[in-house]
Amino acid sequence: MVERTPGIFEVILHSNKSSISEIKIFLVPGKEGERSLMVDAGFRSRQCLAVMEKVLEAFGIAYDKLDIFLTHKHHDHCGLASEYAARGARLFMNPQEDRHCYDCMYYNHSHGSTEDQPEVLRGMGITPEGTPEIWEMFMEVNRRASTNKAWEFEIPGFRYTPVKAGQKLAYGSYEFETVPLKGHTFGQMGLYDRERKIIFCADQVIDGIVPIVGSTYPDEHLLKGYFASLEQFKHKYQDCLVLPAHREPIKEVKRVVDRIVFSYLDKTDMIKRILDHAHRQMTTKEVACLAYGMKPVPGDQAEFIKLKMVISKTFSCLEYLYDEDLAIRGKLDGTYLWESPVS
Ligand SMILES: [Zn+2]
Repeated sequence: MVERTPGIFEVILHSNKSSISEIKIFLVPGKEGERSLMVDAGFRSRQCLAVMEKVLEAFGIAYDKLDIFLTHKHHDHCGLASEYAARGARLFMNPQEDRHCYDCMYYNHSHGSTEDQPEVLRGMGITPEGTPEIWEMFMEVNRRASTNKAWEFEIPGFRYTPVKAGQKLAYGSYEFETVPLKGHTFGQMGLYDRERKIIFCADQVIDGIVPIVGSTYPDEHLLKGYFASLEQFKHKYQDCLVLPAHREPIKEVKRVVDRIVFSYLDKTDMIKRILDHAHRQMTTKEVACLAYGMKPVPGDQAEFIKLKMVISKTFSCLEYLYDEDLAIRGKLDGTYLWESPVS
């Protein structure tokens, strides 16, 4: 554990199962008798829970005096949310993170996810008749989530207090304001102390990584929203202590933001060229495999997880091209089909 700035502590939790191997959980202990803040809940593992139990105990923070601000609903950030809620902690999250029951990338275990899943997968070009092997891999994940409770990608349901942008949350000597950070997810939010110039920016900007802009729903303009949000980020938080959930605090905000933007512009340009040369309609899954050099059928679990991610990423890029009139989007039997406006 390190103290990043007086009264703000950082705990690193590790996962040995997933492609994301670590997350940083920030803790702002409250003043005597007051509530304390934890930013994000961490991976759903006994090991991670044990680490946090020790830390909370060392600070003398009881669960009924603990507030957890969940920046977005991904498994590394919300995996243990239900566990803390059951122990009496108060959770905060933007309800926009719950607007869909199922997302291709992460298994959000809530009502309706099993009903929504076939439709979402069909939309991306994954069907029992067209891509039976990949379909079966998704079904296998469902079976594992329902039988093996240790499935790390699942997010068990939890109760929380809904938050929106501009709300104030004060802990210790800090007064944070909830700020929208659209892009990595639709409703991601951070916490910003205007006076002390500190921001918990979750996965909006990460040094050395291009955060996934993952969507499998049409007309959410996620990549476009990410670009707009990053532009604002660059100006608003450039002189702040920027604390992301992964990797090191960000020193050169402009450089990190520009690298992410250029990487997405490169990728959308490549995807545009794939469509231009195809001379036919393609599914999102087909475009994704070409854009990311993936085999048509994943060979193991790691490749399967990567495929889920690149499908979501590709869909965001395709939607961006569609918004810019650089791609045509059609739909046949529930599957989105993409083609170039020039071919
Ligand atoms: Zn994350």
